[in-house]
Amino acid sequence: MTLHAISAPRLFDGVRYHNNAALVWQGSQIKQVLPIEQLPESIPCQHYTDSIICPGFIDIQVNGGGGIMLNSDTSPAAMQTICEAHRQFGTAYLLPTLISATPSQLAKALQATEQALNDNIAGVLGVHLEGPWLNPKKKGAHDASLFYAPEIESLEGLPWLKQGKVLVTCAAELMDTNVLRWLDQQGVILSCGHSNAQFDQLTEQKMASVSGFTHLYNAMSPFEGRSPGTVGRALLTDHAWCSVITDGIHVHPQSVLLAHRIKPEGKLLIVTDAMASVGSVDNKFELDGQTIELIDGKLVNNEGSLAGAHIGMDESVANVIRWGIEESEAIKMASTYPAQAMRCDDLGQLTPGYRAAATVLSNAYQSQAVLVDGIVY
Ligand SMILES: [Zn+2]
Repeated sequence: MTLHAISAPRLFDGVRYHNNAALVWQGSQIKQVLPIEQLPESIPCQHYTDSIICPGFIDIQVNGGGGIMLNSDTSPAAMQTICEAHRQFGTAYLLPTLISATPSQLAKALQATEQALNDNIAGVLGVHLEGPWLNPKKKGAHDASLFYAPEIESLEGLPWLKQGKVLVTCAAELMDTNVLRWLDQQGVILSCGHSNAQFDQLTEQKMASVSGFTHLYNAMSPFEGRSPGTVGRALLTDHAWCSVITDGIHVHPQSVLLAHRIKPEGKLLIVTDAMASVGSVDNKFELDGQTIELIDGKLVNNEGSLAGAHIGMDESVANVIRWGIEESEAIKMASTYPAQAMRCDDLGQLTPGYRAAATVLSNAYQSQAVLVDGIVY
């Protein structure tokens, strides 16, 4: 198989920087990072001026893109459109995300994901089921009439994936501990979100099965002196990662910096929570029969509630750098850390043997190209 390469004045491999370096891969696997002058002339190389090559961005919460919502079109073709839309903004892999839906739609989303993985649709890492096991008091833009507390028997009936990753966001305070444990044992990655828990309701037994918290600060009981809430539990649970939306609208920049100061290294990661409008000229789309509209950069439903974000990964990374987080750390929050959170041990670093996945950013942090499984887009 032929070797291929890309090069740039700067390369960050997820651990350290290399100047004037080339990334070499064969098939879908990284072979080497080496100085450009040592690259054999026989290897075709695309050079990007004024750019940085970094590990491919991974977005674990993407409801839509390219004019399509996964909730409206729960198919492998829709997943492909969503991945293509987000590649323009630097995302190599993502979890198409289903907002609370009926059990039959959940089954359909799982089947469509299995099919997308079988068909090797570039960029699909698995699926994120955001609900419907959520707290109606923190419903956000979800349809609370779809919420319920599941039993193991009903979950056994779902076509869980044979490959790929499944992330489930649930309100852990409303879930039976045995149900959480059962999901964890199936390999489902559990994240607490749309939660109205009192601190003590998120018990140690429950947290033992919970790996993360979904969009920290948004749609969860807040931190207060007398009542630390879900936010307090999220910040104080060292083993759990927290995803955060960094569009500057959902969360104040200082709140992002506060979480970054409190969470152990690697446990704060960026998600977009993007909707159909990303990578599309349409500023309006439908969700559960309600119209979501883009107004002044904000996506709002008829009630005026925020309904997801209108942002891509590259801008999300640029924002946190602007707010004061180091460039290398910001990049890891969008690549290395989500890879670790999703237990992908061959993603998140530009290291020999890892999957050939990279994002090329301009010096202004705009995506120039994305490498996915050995193909440059
Ligand atoms: Zn949400």
